[in-house]
Amino acid sequence: MAVHPLVRAHLPVLAAAIGRIGHSQIRNRGTVCGSIAHHDPSAELPALALALDARILTYGTRGTAVHPAASFFTGTFDTALAPDEIVTAVQFPLPEPGTGWAFEEVARRSGDFALVGGTALLRAAPGGTVERARIALFGVASTPVRLPAVEESVTGAAPTPDVLDAAARLTAETLDPAADSHASADYRREVAAHLVRTTLADAFARTPAGSPADA
Ligand SMILES: Cc1cc2nc3c(=O)[nH]c(=O)nc-3n(C[C@H](O)[C@H](O)[C@H](O)COP(=O)(O)OP(=O)(O)OC[C@H]3O[C@@H](n4cnc5c(N)ncnc54)[C@H](O)[C@@H]3O)c2cc1C
Repeated sequence: MAVHPLVRAHLPVLAAAIGRIGHSQIRNRGTVCGSIAHHDPSAELPALALALDARILTYGTRGTAVHPAASFFTGTFDTALAPDEIVTAVQFPLPEPGTGWAFEEVARRSGDFALVGGTALLRAAPGGTVERARIALFGVASTPVRLPAVEESVTGAAPTPDVLDAAARLTAETLDPAADSHASADYRREVAAHLVRTTLADAFARTPAGSPADA
């Protein structure tokens, strides 16, 4: 799926997220529905599902159901899935045309689960200000998290270095990651702040306002 021409053409952020999952052997065997149902808090797809407001379709003994991603991931390896339900499909809505995107993560080695990762989707107004931003991080809590205060802080502003620095600072103040054997809480907080800065900048660069030559 990471190399599928339709995915790359219409939802390149999904191709980028999948490209970060383990190695090609893992990607060829693992499934999108399995990753969503498994819900490792360091996994890429739950965070992208949250950022895109994906719909998770399930089937069980009581019939079918549709779960918004925002209420599906309930804790580490835990979801709203009932014991008799399976995930049958995940619908990732296409962002509005002109939406810039970025998906980045930090891992010890290429192919390892991320220590911290993040994605940003950003629409820019013609004048170069941020019209709408969505940010989701993973590896910083028991579920992927959106950062509404940070999203709001950049909305209406041009993404200058000062604005992006302030967004990064706000991210660090907002998050309270846990320490584990892989990384300290401070390290995760610092990496998360850095990723918010870089994903916002990279997403803006992929909007028509950020890359006028391509418009
Ligand atoms: C070395 C290694 C590195 C990896 N690195 C990453 C990584 O960086 N990022 C990442 O996201 N993943 C990574 N994974 C893969 C991750 O473990 C799989 O994406 C995940 O396990 C889903 O794989 P699967 O679809 O085969 O489901 P399985 O592994 O078969 O199942 C996982 C769990 O989900 C349940 N399940 C599976 N499908 C469904 C369904 N449709 N409905 C309900 N429950 C279901 C199973 O019962 C099981 O409990 C890695 C795996 C390995 C082995």
